[in-house]
Amino acid sequence: MILSGMRFHSPRTAEEAVQLLSDLKGARVLAGGTDLLVDLKQGLTDVKDVISLQDIEGLKGITKERNRIRIGATSTPQEILSSSLIRQYFPALTEAAQSMASIQIRTLATIAGNITSAVPSADFPPSLIAADAAVELLCTESSREVPLSGFFTGPRETVCRTKELLVSVFVPLPSSNTGISYQKCTLREANSLAVASVASRLTLKNGKTERAAIVLGAVAPTPVLASKASAHLQGKAPSSEVFEEAAAMAKEEGKPISDIRGSAWYRKELIHVLTRRSLSEAFERAQGKSRTKK
Ligand SMILES: Cc1cc2nc3c(=O)[nH]c(=O)nc-3n(C[C@H](O)[C@H](O)[C@H](O)COP(=O)(O)OP(=O)(O)OC[C@H]3O[C@@H](n4cnc5c(N)ncnc54)[C@H](O)[C@@H]3O)c2cc1C
Repeated sequence: MILSGMRFHSPRTAEEAVQLLSDLKGARVLAGGTDLLVDLKQGLTDVKDVISLQDIEGLKGITKERNRIRIGATSTPQEILSSSLIRQYFPALTEAAQSMASIQIRTLATIAGNITSAVPSADFPPSLIAADAAVELLCTESSREVPLSGFFTGPRETVCRTKELLVSVFVPLPSSNTGISYQKCTLREANSLAVASVASRLTLKNGKTERAAIVLGAVAPTPVLASKASAHLQGKAPSSEVFEEAAAMAKEEGKPISDIRGSAWYRKELIHVLTRRSLSEAFERAQGKSRTKK
């Protein structure tokens, strides 16, 4: 299907892109196009002006900036999974990238598209929220940083305004006693969205959990922090019994629906299993025992 009647803009800087967003009513940003082009071809959205981010060098690259990692908006899952910086400091994100789609989609898609699409099953948000990541949003007048934990407001809804461009994702460098793990269940090996996913983070101090976060994906309108289950871990020595108790609590905090990928009942069972697994791996990582699987 050929898309016609659209004007295509190729700005060279983020500033030019936000100027276009401000000037052209109803314009949409195109990053990898793996979500937007599907919507356009299915007639789910109608756009007259498309602003491509492909030629903007400033939106690319993964770099260490003092106490945090900056992931440029148009970094692809393939670049993320090949990044030694991400592998070293944030292996859960390497694994989230590795689990996504297929090589064709991983080479085209971007982290900003994955976040701003705000599809509840998206793979990057849960581990990013567990890692206290923030996004930088730019418009013609200003720029602001928003913690990802407060970014999602509903399915396909976020606090990103129509004239704002997501330019960077910032991930604080984790302390050596912090471990994060991302676990996901899909129906097929490739090109399959999560039926349920869980990212768990544990920070240890003197043999006890100083801080914990269990973030659930694909089981609510947005990624959700299982706050009661996370609080249950705090101050306790990690053990399989404590992880099992937290997993049982997390199961009750998800609000899944039934759809073609799985029933609400099945998704709740998955939360239980994936939480237990992710806590065990996060614990190993917090002790420096486990890196990425490949
Ligand atoms: C076959 C297939 C398999 C898939 N499998 C997975 C999977 O396993 N896991 C998964 O999580 N997703 C999957 N997806 C969904 C999709 O690939 C991802 O969500 C992808 O990361 C979207 O990025 P993109 O750059 O292609 O976004 P685009 O399609 O370019 O844009 C998506 C939306 O975000 C907006 N946008 C993009 N960049 C910015 C920006 N910088 N600032 C503001 N708004 C912006 C666009 O305007 C648009 O509304 C799959 C898609 C397909 C087609």
